[in-house]
Amino acid sequence: MVDGDTAPSGQPTRRHGVPRIQRWQVDLVTQMTGLLDCMSEETIKFCHFCSSPLENRPIEGRIRRYCPRCRIPIYENPVPAACTVVIDHRGRLLLVKRRVPPKQGMWCLPGGFIECGETPEQAAVRELKEETGLDGRIHHLIGVTTSPGSLYAAILVIAYLVTRFSGRVIAGDDADDAAFFPQAELPDIAFESHQSFIRIYYSTLDLPKQLPDNYG
Ligand SMILES: [Zn+2]
Repeated sequence: MVDGDTAPSGQPTRRHGVPRIQRWQVDLVTQMTGLLDCMSEETIKFCHFCSSPLENRPIEGRIRRYCPRCRIPIYENPVPAACTVVIDHRGRLLLVKRRVPPKQGMWCLPGGFIECGETPEQAAVRELKEETGLDGRIHHLIGVTTSPGSLYAAILVIAYLVTRFSGRVIAGDDADDAAFFPQAELPDIAFESHQSFIRIYYSTLDLPKQLPDNYG
């Protein structure tokens, strides 16, 4: 039962002793349903601090996980990861073939999650070394984006360009294979974020050089 009237007190009106649902309550439920659709199925189930089961509550304009025992919302944030766009002297792009899910068997940029105590740059070159055997030097930041994850609700991905490196390409860690590909022969790339960084890299190649030679 829906009633668009609002009692002067702001409390639900009653008819025959039954509380009547107000319009704002219906709007709230509609909003909640929409926001719930955005939440990951893998959303956290227990409190980090006291292990109590969590509930959903509308807090700060969206549905959040809430611990009724600690009386605090448990915020879910994107997990940070770093990857590298490595280009060799022939302009070819380095890719690794994934040995593990998600997207097992597909190609992607070398990369992985940032460990505590690491800078994003350190994580990027460490992952490059682990997955391809190469020691790389970061040239510059290509971009930052967020994407949905399968193990985590969302991942914040940071990409760096590497044009100077040493060593021999040997697939390692969770990579089945590692190889350089010419732009015209790139395979399907596993992740949308990686596709976007590759597009950004190739699009910058076509930009006119607008900065003076002595810039920087
Ligand atoms: Zn708790």
